[in-house]
Parts: sequence; structure tokens; C-alpha cells
Amino acid sequence: MTDARSELRIAVAAFAARPRVLVAVDFDGTLAPFVTDPLQARALPGGLEALVAAAALDDVTAAVVSGRDLATLAALTGIGPDAGVTLIGSHGAQTSLGQHTNPGDPANPGDRSNLHPAGDAAFLDEEATARLNVLRGELEAIRFRYPSVRLENKPSAVVLHTRGVEPSVAAAATAAAHEVGARYAGVHVMPGKDVVELTVLEANKGNALVDLARATSSDATLYLGDDVTDERAFAALDPQSGDLTVKVGEGETVAAQRVPDPESVVALLELFVAQRRVAQGRPVQGRVAQRRVD
Ligand SMILES: [Mg+2]
Repeated sequence: MTDARSELRIAVAAFAARPRVLVAVDFDGTLAPFVTDPLQARALPGGLEALVAAAALDDVTAAVVSGRDLATLAALTGIGPDAGVTLIGSHGAQTSLGQHTNPGDPANPGDRSNLHPAGDAAFLDEEATARLNVLRGELEAIRFRYPSVRLENKPSAVVLHTRGVEPSVAAAATAAAHEVGARYAGVHVMPGKDVVELTVLEANKGNALVDLARATSSDATLYLGDDVTDERAFAALDPQSGDLTVKVGEGETVAAQRVPDPESVVALLELFVAQRRVAQGRPVQGRVAQRRVD
């Protein structure tokens, strides 16, 4: 980060000095650069390492909050139940919270009522399951008409991907998906970059973050994201009370700060870890003067 980013550096330092914090990041376009095949997306070197380092610090919860389903998110990040990093999938409909071998302070389990652990039998009721099956059929019909688009099935949603597709075809397929979403009650349409998701659960990253902050008794939350769905997360947070919201890349945003790209996300997470160590009176690795013993 350059001197022009000094305002952001100050904000990170102030956030790192809060007693108990939640550090949360989106995955695609934030930790991981966009690629044509969504299953080839990988976090930039250093990003996950910085998150794991953050999670190991006192009174820090670290999380990846993604529209991806939980199983895919775990596979793409390589974050297992013992990494100490919470995964939130399907825009907040699924969480790995509670799957950790060390769930934290047993005296303060927090409120997890709105977060559904993976594999929860009551994840979708019968009606929602039926709605999802109808949506899958409708989107299969769209793919039949526009074979260059791709579909992704998630536990509570079906997603139309148009990255790399000829623009007029992408626009037509996207419009058709929006039309399907508008036709059925109980279906929520979530547009994103080269993607439109039809979901049968009212989940959003804002509620998910607020729930996780409450469950972990966090005083302040840092959130980094690049897409339309991340705006719900930014809007749910309050920079006036110590939260730090950071938009990645171009575009309209309600976030208080902005960084240009995933490389800057890695730098910001590393800066947070260093500042947190300073705030907690720990020496920063690599900067400890070596005293020569004669
Ligand atoms: Mg994203």
C-alpha cells in the first residue's frame, strides 16, 4: 500500500486496536482473481495465510463469506474444520460455525439461530425443495436455448454463469433468468458479475455477518468484497461504530474505503495482522532487532 492509502492504513490500525474483532472477506474477485471456469478460482498467495494468521490471534474471528456453496468453498480454499477460519456459504444460508473442533468459549456460545450448519436436515423445507426443482428445470431450458452458458446447482439455489459468453447471448440468457425469477413467489434473484442466481432462501451476506459478529461477541467487523451482493454486507455494518467496510475494484458502493484489486486485499489482511500484533504488544516478526552477544 502506498502513502496515498494512508487513510486506509489509519483505519486498519484503529480497527486492529478494538478489543474483539471479526475479519471477513468475500472469495471470488476479492481473495481470488476471476477466471472463466469458476471451479479453477484460487486465492492469491498470502491471502488465506493472512486469514489463518489473523484467526490465530487473540480475540479475532476470521471468515470467508461467499455465494459459493459451503462444500465448494471448502474445496477451493482448502480451509478445513481445524484451520480456525469460519466459512459462510450460499450468501449466508450455510456456515461451518459449530463444525470446528475448538468452538471457542463454551460459556458464551452466542446466538447461531439464523446460521445453518452444513448438513442440517432442516436446511430446506418441502416447499422450498419443490421450488428449487422447478427453478432447475426452468434454467435447464434456458441453457438448452443458449448452450454456451453454464449452470451451477447449489443446495438452495441455481446459478446461471455467463463469463466469457458472447455479450448478446449473455444478455438474452440473463434476461430470461430474471424473467423466471419474477414469475415464481418465494424465489429471490441475486445478480452479480456475469452471473445471476435464483435462490429459494432469503439469505444475504449482511444478515450473515451480523449473526456471526453476534455469535462471536465481536465489537467491530472488517468486511472486504467486490460485487453487488457484498453491498448488503457493507450496508449492514456501521463505520461510525468501528466497523471497516472496503470495496474491491470499481463500481458504486456504500463501503467507506476502496482498494483496487485482490493483491491489495492480501496486503490489507497482512497489514491487519501486523497492526493487531502491535496493538496486543507482540513483536512483529522479522522486525525484531538482533542483538549481537559478544
Ligand atoms: Mg466476489
